[in-house]
Amino acid sequence: MPVQDAQARARNFLEVNSGYTNARAAFEAERCLRCQHPLCVDGCPVRIPIPDFIHAVAAGHMASAADILRSANPLPAICGRVCPQESQCEAECSMGGRFNPVGIGHLERFVADWERTQPVTVQPALTKSQKIAIIGAGPSGLVCAGELARLGYPVTIYEALHAPGGVLRYGIPEFRLPKAILDWEIDLLRAMGVEIVCNVIIGKTLTLDDLTNRLGYAAIFIGTGAGLPQFLNIPGENLNGVYSANEFLTRINLMRAYDFPNADTPVRVGKRVAVVGAGNTAMDAVRTALRMGADEAMIVYRRSDEEMSARAEEYEHAIEEGVQFHWLTSPVEVIDDGSGWVAGLRCQQMRLGEPDATGRRRPVPVPDSDFVLAVDNVVLAIGTTPNPLLTRTTSGLATTTRGCLLADEATGLTSKTMVFAGGDAVTGAATVILAAGAGKRAARAIDAALAAQLL
Ligand code: FAD
Repeated sequence: MPVQDAQARARNFLEVNSGYTNARAAFEAERCLRCQHPLCVDGCPVRIPIPDFIHAVAAGHMASAADILRSANPLPAICGRVCPQESQCEAECSMGGRFNPVGIGHLERFVADWERTQPVTVQPALTKSQKIAIIGAGPSGLVCAGELARLGYPVTIYEALHAPGGVLRYGIPEFRLPKAILDWEIDLLRAMGVEIVCNVIIGKTLTLDDLTNRLGYAAIFIGTGAGLPQFLNIPGENLNGVYSANEFLTRINLMRAYDFPNADTPVRVGKRVAVVGAGNTAMDAVRTALRMGADEAMIVYRRSDEEMSARAEEYEHAIEEGVQFHWLTSPVEVIDDGSGWVAGLRCQQMRLGEPDATGRRRPVPVPDSDFVLAVDNVVLAIGTTPNPLLTRTTSGLATTTRGCLLADEATGLTSKTMVFAGGDAVTGAATVILAAGAGKRAARAIDAALAAQLL
């Protein structure tokens, strides 16, 4: 995959990867072995018929390739860019034993980008009268809405923020997922007749029961994600200059803080920025800090690179861009400069002990190993949980002890009649493809439940 020069891209927000050329895509498609039992399909959470779409590319049948992809994955241009293919489809590719696996994700992106150059032909197909409300315009809600609109239902999405997309808009930065791609997908939904109402917080502006009792929705899908940041609970965490990664990225991606004062929201990015954590969110935050002008941007993580959950490509790109990595390092205190701002991060060296409940080796502090990283900002990217606002204001919605909604895995049905849920709100922070798959399954279950009511 051709990429922008590392030095240059570390200072701009343009997309890092520039996509396969036609010749490169044809070459890559020809590498697929057409296995009789394609294990890559088993590795894909939504079971895309991968060899079929790749063979269509090899044969030059792009429209057919696009149809095959969309039959299983409604967000191919997005998933082709952000899915962790190396631990899913590409991990199972038979070519991977002796050579590089086939670039399945890059081919998915290639087909989806071709599709975006074609005229849009979708139209509203209203054939049903039961109205459906979707809460949250992240991937799970968008996919559920698209599938229900395709089945003929009038659908309205209620979104708390002023723009739809969920993490795809406020979290994942432009240099990984250009907003134009998200906007294209959302325009497609609108062309199908989906109504998107922004600036409505269900649980505050309206309650969930208002949607059924006052507004007459026959079914509801909850796709509210897991946007509530976790904190370290260490001294100094409330100092100025400490951000949760969600706040840091939202200020920049959604509120355009890079354009302050032309935009309303400021962000203060210092010369040395420490990001705590080593998942996709941490990698996005640390690379964004560089692009916002930090001289040094570093990852601080209490385990080693072996346990890191970020996509391999993001890690490689971060190294190339000059991000520093402090492995086996755990923060114990954020240091005050005397005026309420961050002056440093006191850390402790760790070593890896026995595996914990997650199967990963537990980090154990090394005695007398404290040291201080001189930094101006600390960004916490140590995980998120579902926001409890909706469950606290809705009776009869059962949750797990971790605050996730309890929902049937196959249908998404919650403990409340005709209320379905999926995505991070159910699983806790996970991936785009899992959220999209849950939205699609719930749409089919809603259709089946409404059809049964008519019998
Ligand atoms: P979300 O995307 O969180 O969307 C939920 C939406 O619901 C939001 O728009 C929110 O404003 C809205 N909402 C919440 N409460 C209410 C309410 N009460 N009323 C109305 N609306 C409400 N996954 C990958 O596969 N690959 C990646 O590279 C990757 N990178 C990531 C980077 C970052 C910075 C983050 C934070 C996550 C990343 N993920 C990645 C995870 C992925 O983005 C999520 O798993 C996915 O977006 C979950 O989709 P969702 O629809 O469940 O929720």
